[in-house]
Amino acid sequence: MGTHDTFVIVGAGLAGAKAAETLRDEGFDGRLVLVGEEPERPYERPPLSKAYLTGAADRESVDVHPAGWYGERGVELLTGARASGLDPAGHRVELDTGERLGYSKLLLATGSSARRLGVPGADLAGVHYLRTAADADRLRTALSSGQHRVVIVGGGWIGLEVAAAARHHGNEVAVVEPRPTPLHQVLGAELGEVFARLHRAHGVDVRVRTTVDELCGDGGRVTSVLVDGDTELPADLVVIGIGAAPNTGLAEAAGLDVANGVVADAALRTSAPDVYAAGDVASSFHPRYHRHIRVEHWANALHGGPAAARSMLGSKVSYDRVPYFFTDQYELGMEYSGLAGPGADVVHRGDPGNGAFVTFWLRDGRVEAGMNVNVWDVAEPIQALIRSGRQVDTGRLTDPGVPIEALLG
Ligand SMILES: Cc1cc2nc3c(=O)[nH]c(=O)nc-3n(C[C@H](O)[C@H](O)[C@H](O)COP(=O)(O)OP(=O)(O)OC[C@H]3O[C@@H](n4cnc5c(N)ncnc54)[C@H](O)[C@@H]3O)c2cc1C
Repeated sequence: MGTHDTFVIVGAGLAGAKAAETLRDEGFDGRLVLVGEEPERPYERPPLSKAYLTGAADRESVDVHPAGWYGERGVELLTGARASGLDPAGHRVELDTGERLGYSKLLLATGSSARRLGVPGADLAGVHYLRTAADADRLRTALSSGQHRVVIVGGGWIGLEVAAAARHHGNEVAVVEPRPTPLHQVLGAELGEVFARLHRAHGVDVRVRTTVDELCGDGGRVTSVLVDGDTELPADLVVIGIGAAPNTGLAEAAGLDVANGVVADAALRTSAPDVYAAGDVASSFHPRYHRHIRVEHWANALHGGPAAARSMLGSKVSYDRVPYFFTDQYELGMEYSGLAGPGADVVHRGDPGNGAFVTFWLRDGRVEAGMNVNVWDVAEPIQALIRSGRQVDTGRLTDPGVPIEALLG
């Protein structure tokens, strides 16, 4: 593929920007267009709920590439431009500006959007979502006075990280979560409780088994959150963190296979010829798990974009990375590797009550997933253990005196 080809990437997030970088690094010298709906160049989202929200990180530090990089590498970055139509047979993308772009290969890296809360009052002023840098700017400005009563709807990763940032600024914070603990679906009850305790220790009112019925307001501004039909939690700022939904509209309208994301094979090829998908939006076949999975995490955008780029260039690609994500909340830093299915055996190396430990999820004595909390430089060996598929001795696995590498044989 070369000089006479045009590659178009729709979605100027991390996956799209990293794909563009790889295409140039691997020698693609044709026209390369990166189309992004947001008004700014690609940036990383994880700091938006952490260091950027507390004010510890500035705007430039979250950019994927510096401003001059796009021109230097011959990447035509179209910001504030939405791809509104895709014609796979004609190999054309239409932008909302009316411009049409022909492509030889197309990458869909349209990411995901924050799920909206469907209760009365959800559109009142003072109600925030957090997906974009613009959202983070608004939220940071609001939180930074430290004077607010903040109610966070959803005890998932983003809700909890925003709770930590809101406490950092000195606000009064409540988190409302319908399940028995925060992060219950991902981590289960015991580890969800670790996060509940952490937040309570930092002064957050963590309300579990609690359902939001309505956001109540006065003069168009939110004043409280009605929960469980009869309890009003005073609030002058509400943050909704109830998950994300993949941006599949363009693919769906074009007739591509879509099922909880744009369906792709292990080489990140979609059901349409010359159209690829990567990052949050892709539901790709994972050779390790023998099924399609969609991963809404930073590392998947970081590695999936380049993998798609190599596939677009004709390399043989089998995208089979072990899923990985991380979080930072107060003094707790955590990394999670793998994919634990229901009913896995859970064992710990160290005491989850003590702030520094590693948890493993096992099936038939094989490690499916591992989570290290305030224990560092172990994510790589944990991933190697998962990839190896070997049966491990649980006594050695849970013994902090045995290096994890030693279990690899
Ligand atoms: C606040 C926050 C904190 C996070 N923290 C963590 C973390 O701690 N750890 C972790 O592992 N992950 C974290 N994540 C998840 C991680 O940021 C995402 O997995 C990652 O951003 C996905 O990258 P992406 O490029 O696939 O999609 P996105 O980042 O969503 O980028 C897609 C881009 O495509 C644009 N787009 C969509 N449709 C079109 C269209 N039709 N035309 C043009 N452009 C379009 C969108 O506007 C967007 O700019 C966090 C996410 C958020 C929002």
